[in-house]
Amino acid sequence: MTPSVSVLLLLLLLGLSQAHPLTEEESVPEVQMDEDDTVDITTRILTSNNATNEILLEGDLLAPRTRNAMTCWSQSCLWKKASNGLVMIPFTMSSEFTSWERQKIDYAMKAFHSSTCLRFVPRQNEYDYISVENRAGCFSALGKTGGRQVLSLNRQGCLYHGIIQHEINHALGFQHEQTRSDRDYYVRINWENINPQMAYNFYKQATNNLNTPYDYSSIMHYGKTAFSIQHGRDSITPIPNANVQIGQRKGMSYWDIMRINLLYSC
Ligand SMILES: [Zn+2]
Repeated sequence: MTPSVSVLLLLLLLGLSQAHPLTEEESVPEVQMDEDDTVDITTRILTSNNATNEILLEGDLLAPRTRNAMTCWSQSCLWKKASNGLVMIPFTMSSEFTSWERQKIDYAMKAFHSSTCLRFVPRQNEYDYISVENRAGCFSALGKTGGRQVLSLNRQGCLYHGIIQHEINHALGFQHEQTRSDRDYYVRINWENINPQMAYNFYKQATNNLNTPYDYSSIMHYGKTAFSIQHGRDSITPIPNANVQIGQRKGMSYWDIMRINLLYSC
């Protein structure tokens, strides 16, 4: 059995073991965060995305067909603010999700409601909306693309609080923290541990950093071994302190929330 097959099986088993039935009377548990802390978010996302046929950038960004996704900071890439000051983001959810899975997604969206001016609302007839689907992997477009845009949360590998929020953040316009324009002051990319064909995943981007500090604890930061081809060797090393944690999986950090409020002028 190849390692990737065993990892997939493990994820499947994990998914099954977590799919305990939730009776109608039960509400969403308060602490329904990530159940398994031993795997970082990047590993989970990249493992889940092994099976996808989509063209993905940096592991989980849908390659745009019409424009450069790497500079998504014009107003047209952002979700519109309504006259009441709230940014309404219409969404639909695939009927393939069970009610328990829908609750997980809802729960992750609610965290944006309580800390920002964003509001995810069921789509009525809006033109621009997010279609949450159970495709082969965890991925999203960058920013608002116009019309229907897919945000994929595979039922087996992606329904974790942190991953749902990570993908939503992409749909809001946020890129990976380690591709920030100023990242070389904060992390070292170990190119020798990265497959040259995957090196583009680590290219710096002309990001709008919103005058916020580099955030090792961002939910948008990849883990130390992302895309590493040398078993156990790091592809990303925090500097100067290599022991700083990156690739957290709990949920949005203080600065993740601040940035949403800054970008959307909440
Ligand atoms: Zn991502």
